[in-house]
Amino acid sequence: MTEPTPGTTTGSTTEPITGSTTEPATGTPTEPVTGSPTDPGNGARKIKLATTWLDGCSGCHMSFLDLDERLIELGEHVELVYSPLVDTKEFPADVDVCIIEGAVSSEDDLRKVRMVRERSRLLVALGDCAVTTNVPGMRNPIGAAPVLEYAYRRNATLGRQIPAEEIPALLPTVLPVHQVVTVDCFLPGCPPSAKLIWLAVTELLAGRIPDPATLARFGK
Ligand code: SF4
Repeated sequence: MTEPTPGTTTGSTTEPITGSTTEPATGTPTEPVTGSPTDPGNGARKIKLATTWLDGCSGCHMSFLDLDERLIELGEHVELVYSPLVDTKEFPADVDVCIIEGAVSSEDDLRKVRMVRERSRLLVALGDCAVTTNVPGMRNPIGAAPVLEYAYRRNATLGRQIPAEEIPALLPTVLPVHQVVTVDCFLPGCPPSAKLIWLAVTELLAGRIPDPATLARFGK
């Protein structure tokens, strides 16, 4: 399959992702915005992209890096304003698209995902942990307390005690991102392939919400 270039159209159309707002995404963006300081020179400013993670293994971000030379092409269209891949410390208030890896497992995750949702126009759940809880969710039938007991007492050889301060409190149940906040796009896979990520990103840049049913199958 020929892979699309950011900004090109490949299917049903909406309008390009442009503009900057702190409102949660509720639909397809419609407002073109031009003339920002990051204007790439063709009248349209770059899309503000963020990536972040919750309870995951970082494998989904590794798959994002597997875009390889396509990252250079992507960089012509987006400004990476926050990510584990860059040194920004604060999540900005006016992100266009945020890609989020991992499940919601702790109180920290809960605070973070709500903050990210408030500050992002579109939110993409990246990978099976974000979409279904996947590996982190394996503790759900067991419960958080027995897992902590097993990890910090029964399996420990030194200092057998459950930390009360060093780790964020676990939620009783691990949740997929969409059970906490609205998600605009789901990208399944463990991890999603770079090809799928590229297809989704190019669709988003063209102003369409990617339909995972047409892009990928769960478990693939
Ligand atoms: S979906 Fe797979 S690769 Fe991605 S964070 Fe979860 S375990 Fe890691």
